[in-house]
Amino acid sequence: MANAEQARLRTGSYVDGNFVERGGGDCLPVLNPWTGEPLADVAAAEPGTIELAIAAARRAFDHSDWSQLPPTDRGAMLTAVANGLAARKQELAELEALNAGKPIIGALREVEGAIRAFTYYAGAMDKYFGDTIPLGKEFLNLTLNEPLGVVGQIVPWNFPLLGASWKLAPALAAGCCCVLKPSPATPLTALLLAEICADAGVPPGVVNILPGGAEVGQQIVTDPRVDGISFTGSTAVGSEIMRMAATSIKKVALELGGKNACIIFADADLRRAAASAAASGFGNAGQSCSARSRILVQRPVVREFVEMFREAAAKLRAGAAMDPETSLGPLISEQHRSGVAASVSTAVAAGARVVHGGKSLAGAGFFFEPTILDDVTVANPIFSHEIFGPVCGITPFETEAEGIQLVNDSQYGLNGSVWSANIGRALRVARAMRTGMVAVNGLPSASKTSIFAPFGGYKQSGIGRELGLEALGFYTEIKNLVIDLS
Ligand code: NAD
Repeated sequence: MANAEQARLRTGSYVDGNFVERGGGDCLPVLNPWTGEPLADVAAAEPGTIELAIAAARRAFDHSDWSQLPPTDRGAMLTAVANGLAARKQELAELEALNAGKPIIGALREVEGAIRAFTYYAGAMDKYFGDTIPLGKEFLNLTLNEPLGVVGQIVPWNFPLLGASWKLAPALAAGCCCVLKPSPATPLTALLLAEICADAGVPPGVVNILPGGAEVGQQIVTDPRVDGISFTGSTAVGSEIMRMAATSIKKVALELGGKNACIIFADADLRRAAASAAASGFGNAGQSCSARSRILVQRPVVREFVEMFREAAAKLRAGAAMDPETSLGPLISEQHRSGVAASVSTAVAAGARVVHGGKSLAGAGFFFEPTILDDVTVANPIFSHEIFGPVCGITPFETEAEGIQLVNDSQYGLNGSVWSANIGRALRVARAMRTGMVAVNGLPSASKTSIFAPFGGYKQSGIGRELGLEALGFYTEIKNLVIDLS
C-alpha cells in the first residue's frame, strides 16, 4: 500500500463523532500476516473511552431525533455510506488484504459485500412494518416495530469490514445507535468505515468504534445502558457473552462456529462438487465459519472424488497480497498457524492420512498448505473440532441414512451442502440436515452471498439470523398498540 494511503490510517477509537487517536489504553500491535511485520499500532479503548462511547450512543438514542427519523431519511444516509465505500473501494480492499491476510481479489469481493449490505438496508426499513390484528369491531390492534436502542456489536477477524457492515447496516436502518468492537487483530477497516459514516452524515454518537480485546467487549456486554448484543465469533466466547448478558437481560444474537459438511452421493457431478468443496474449504485460507471441512463421500466414488479434490486444491496459489493471481493467503497469526498444524498432527495420530498438503509453507508469512485428510473417522477429533484453517477431512458413507446421521453428528449446525443428481433425494437430505443454511448442487460464489437471505445456524452455531429482513427482528422491539373504538 502506498505510503500516502498508510498516512490516512485511523489508529484510535471513534467516539461521539471524533477519533481519539491516543488514549490511556494499551497499544495493539497490528501485524501484516503476509510478512509477519508490523502494519500499525492501534490504541485500545480504555475504560473511560468505552464509558464515553456508551454514554454518547445512549444520548443519541434517547435525546436526538435519529431513532424517530422517517426510515427513508436514514436510508438516504446508508446509501451515502454505500457510495462512500464504493469511492474508497481500492483503498479499503488493500488495507483489508494487508491486515486480514486476504488475496486482493477476495478483499475486493469483501468490500463489494459491504457496499451491498448498506445498499440493501438503505431500502429495507420502509418495507418492514407491523400488522393489524383482528379483534372485532370494538378494537383496533396494531403492532409497531420500534428500534431496540443502544446495541453492542462484537466481530471477529476473518471478514472484518464485511462483519462490521452486516451488523451496522441493519442496526442503523432500524434506528439503533451502535458501539462496535472489531477484533484486536483487524481493527483498521472498521475505523475507516467510521470515517465513511461520518462523511455520509451519520450523526455523532450513532456509530462508535472501540478497538481492543476481550476486556473492551466485556465492558460493552455488561453495561446496563446497552439494550442488546450482536456477537460473531467462537462458540466458547458466545457462551460467555450469553452468561454476561444475562445479568441485565439483554437481547442477544450470536453467530458462532461451524464444522460444516458436504454430502456427496455417487450420482453427483463430482467435478463440480470437488471444485465447490475446494472453494468452500480453502477460501479465505479456511478461516470462515461457513467453510465446509467435513467432506462425506459415498463409498463407490471416494477415490475418484479425492483425486478431483486434490486437483482443485493444487490450483490454489500462494503469492503476493496485491497479485490478482494469488488465491491462497496466510493465516491470521503464527499462533493460529501453530494451532492448525497441531490439529493436523493430532488427526494423523488418530488414523487420518494426508493426501494433499499438511504443513506450513516455508518463508515469510503465516501460510499453511491446503490440506486434505483421508480416512477421517467419526472418532477422530478433526471430525468434530472447528480448525478454522485450510484443512478438510474425507469420511466415506454407504447409505442415505448413514450420510444424514454423519452430517448431523456435530455440536454445530451452521450450513452444509448436498450433491446428487436425484433431486428427490437431494431435497430429502437437505430437509433432514439440522443446519441453518443448505446448498443443493452448488452454492453461489462468496461474492454473490445473498444479502436478502437469512444467515445463521442451528444448535451451537448460534441464535438468531443476520441479513435479510430477519436481521431487523433483532434490532427492533415489537410494540402492541390497542385502541378502544367504543
Ligand atoms: P473469538 O470468539 O475469539 O473473538 C471474537 C470477538 O470477540 C473478538 O472481537 C474478540 O476480541 C471478542 N472477545 C473475545 N473474548 C471476549 C469476551 N470474553 N467478552 C467479549 N468479547 C470477547 O473469535 P475469533 O477467533 O476472532 O474468530 C473465529 C471464530 O469466529 C470462529 O469460531 C468462527 O467460526 C467464528 N465466526 C462465526 C461466524 C458466523 O457468522 N457464524 C462468522 C465469522 C466467524
